[in-house]
Amino acid sequence: METIAKALQQVKRRIDGAVDSAGRAPGSVQLLAVSKLQPAGAVQQAFEAGQRDFGENYVQEALDKMAELSDLRLQLTWHLIGPLQSNKTRPVAEAFDWVHTVDRLKIAQRLADQRPDGMAPLQLCLQVNVSGEASKHGVAPADVLQLARGVMALPPDRVRLRGLMSIPEAADNEAARRAPHRELRELLQYLHGAGLPLDTLSMGMSGDLEAAVAEGSTMVRVGTAVFGARG
Ligand SMILES: *Cc1c(COP(=O)(O)O)cnc(C)c1O
Repeated sequence: METIAKALQQVKRRIDGAVDSAGRAPGSVQLLAVSKLQPAGAVQQAFEAGQRDFGENYVQEALDKMAELSDLRLQLTWHLIGPLQSNKTRPVAEAFDWVHTVDRLKIAQRLADQRPDGMAPLQLCLQVNVSGEASKHGVAPADVLQLARGVMALPPDRVRLRGLMSIPEAADNEAARRAPHRELRELLQYLHGAGLPLDTLSMGMSGDLEAAVAEGSTMVRVGTAVFGARG
């Protein structure tokens, strides 16, 4: 099937268009293909079309898919973008490359403790509950700096704090779509001002990636627009 390859091309054109409109540097936004509830074969097709970064929401589903695609393991980068409970951290620390949904220090501590020797540090983002957030997950904006400092103090050979992530509610106009993304970008700038060297803003999905790129997203998480509707 070439439809996933075509859809990937279209999404990349949307990203490139938004990057260009915003006057940002070409290549400054990475595409994370969200493969939750899609079969391993769909990931394989996206891989064959050049995609390397994949986002998953559910730990067990992701582990099963990784096992099916173990031949590709060294070439793929797996990102956990769904909520993470503290009793599920071990398999995540052992199998993933990134976790975007850290919202408590305890989770980051467990991931650091459980990251196996010899693996690259697990790359972390803090999920922030910006205004208009669709879920109850995420750290409150007022608590981000303290959490970020706590995560930065963990062993850097085990976990590395990269930036912030959010999941705003869908909105029906461009201004409303941009507002929560602007809020996350301003929070990152505030952390920069406090001396934290973070480089990632994980924001924007199929419906709002242009608004997210306009506000400074460095990583858009796109599911439906790449793979079609989820089974
Ligand atoms: C499902 C999901 C996405 C992708 O959503 P689409 O609307 O299908 O692009 C992105 N981020 C998170 C956290 C998700 O759960």
